Amino acid sequence: MTKWRVIGLVVVVGLIAVLVKAFDTSIAQSTIAVLIGAALLRVGWAMVSGLAQVPPAPPEAGLLRKVKIMYRCSNCGAEVRMTIAPDEDPEPPRHCMEDMDLVAPIME
Ligand SMILES: [Zn+2]
Repeated sequence: MTKWRVIGLVVVVGLIAVLVKAFDTSIAQSTIAVLIGAALLRVGWAMVSGLAQVPPAPPEAGLLRKVKIMYRCSNCGAEVRMTIAPDEDPEPPRHCMEDMDLVAPIME
């Protein structure tokens, strides 16, 4: 058993003891409560660490393509024009937390 498993076990047993004393619940109820709490912490931690993804390194300047692509937000109607992208078919930017819609490429 590693040091951290021992510490975790001591914390869990301590929490169960505190719950039994403070709320006058049975050991079984307190154990279930601590297990549910641990599961919620795990899920929450997984969600937060999923947000903390490191963005990809920027490509070298010579590898970028000149593009002329217009995107429109389907929620608020905002439009943006992409002029340089890592490839000719880049992923659409996001606005109002959703992917923007591709508007017909600009002809000039
Ligand atoms: Zn928007």
